[in-house]
Formats: sequence, structure tokens, C-alpha cells
Amino acid sequence: MRLKKYFGQHLLVAPGVLESIVKYIDPKEGEILVEIGPGTGNLTKRILSYPFKELHLLEIDPDMVEELKNSIKDERVFIHQADATSFDFCTLGDKLKVFGNLPYNVGSLIVENTVFHHRCIPQAIYMLQKEVAEKIQKGPSWLSTFVRSFYKVEYLMSLPGRFFFPKPKVSSALIRLFRKQNPSDLDLRDYKEFLTALYSMKRKALKNKICEELLIKLSIDPMLRVEALEPEKVLLLYKLEDFLGG
Ligand code: SAH
Repeated sequence: MRLKKYFGQHLLVAPGVLESIVKYIDPKEGEILVEIGPGTGNLTKRILSYPFKELHLLEIDPDMVEELKNSIKDERVFIHQADATSFDFCTLGDKLKVFGNLPYNVGSLIVENTVFHHRCIPQAIYMLQKEVAEKIQKGPSWLSTFVRSFYKVEYLMSLPGRFFFPKPKVSSALIRLFRKQNPSDLDLRDYKEFLTALYSMKRKALKNKICEELLIKLSIDPMLRVEALEPEKVLLLYKLEDFLGG
């Protein structure tokens, strides 16, 4: 099959690496799994020897979907031709384990969509471009804080390009998102807007963006920049500002 660059198709071809990813995914009896971007099914086929209840494959490329339909015969598997940047995960269940070797060009968008559906995704394991994975884990960025408001981010391993075909110019990293608390009923669109505004002028002091009184009340130095704040503090600021009608 001809691989398509615009769909970010870099297949994982190293058996040892595939095996360690499966160990991290650790499929279990009764679980509903979701794989994003299965491609030709390199990772998928290794999952099939484990117990689980359902495995949903989300693949955007109709040619790949065709190939998957021809090569995977397992009644626990459901193949969806779908775009994972906008897919409504919660239609599949309320305790999903989501994983995938994500297409690099839309990796951040898929992570963002995961957060929008965190109420039904307690755990996700993603292969991303290394820089993107590191930035999500450490910040500062609106997306990093968006993710870390709800998930603990665990850095599992880095992988050089040679484990993929065709070999990408960048390195990759595997991360795990582990939901921190019970799902939040916050208005996530509104929270995202708050975050993108807060991080849009990173160099400005917090007092230029948030009511100084509120900052002092929370013992936050109003002269600090947003990057000095832990995600928990940012989330608290958002909730209180909302509460005060800010
Ligand atoms: N998991 C496979 C392939 C990874 S390449 C492996 O490791 O070998 C990324 C895959 O994501 C490709 O199959 C590509 O077609 C698919 N893809 C690209 N954009 C997508 C999107 N928005 N939603 C779902 N799948 C997508």
C-alpha cells in the first residue's frame, strides 16, 4: 500500500517496540479499548491475543479501513472510518482505554479532543512527536495546562525515527495520561477559552489578566507570569473567577 504523508502515516515496524507498547496498554478482561490511527494494524494485531471486551478502531483513511476489514477477523473488533480530532468518544462507553501511534500532524488536536472527553476516558496511551510529548508533560502552554488539569502525564519512553517506516525526521515519545480525579463537569469550551487567553501573552504579569484581588486572596504574587503557576492553581483561578463573575 502507498503510504500517505498528509495522513501522517509512519508505521511502527519494530516487533520489540510494539511488544513493549502492548505491555503498557495492558488490555484486560471486560475493557473497552479504542485505537486511534491503526493504519495497517501492526499494533492492533498484537492486542488481539489478549482478553478484552471490545476494540474500536478509528481510522481516517478509507484505504486503510478497507485493508483492516480484510485482515482482521475478530468479533470483538469494530472498525470506524472516523476523524479522531473530532470523534465523540463517549458514544463508545464511559470507561475507555484509548491508545495509538498518533499521526504527528494532528497529535495535539487528538490530545485536546481526549481532554474534551475525559469524563469517559480514564486512561490514554499515545505515541507523539517527542517535542510535543515533552511540552505536554512540562508546559508552559495552554494545552499542557488543559491536559494536566485533569490528567497526570507519565513519560514512558522515547523512540528514534528508525523504528518507523517511512522514517520520520523527528523522534517520538510514548506518554500515558492518567485521569486524576473524578471527571469534572466544568464547561470545557469555556475553560479552553480562558486558558488560551491566559497563555496568549505569556510574558505579561498575571495582574494584567486576572483580578489582582483574587490573586492576592489565593497568595499568588500578581507580578508572576502564567508559566510560574501549577495547573491546579490555574484551574482554581478559573473556578473562582467564574464564581465571582470575573
Ligand atoms: N498505528 C499504526 C499507524 C500509525 S500512522 C502503526 O503504528 O503502524 C498514523 C495513522 O493515523 C495512519 O493510519 C493515518 O491514516 C491515521 N490518521 C491520520 N489522521 C487521522 C485522524 N484525524 N483520525 C484518525 N486516524 C488518522
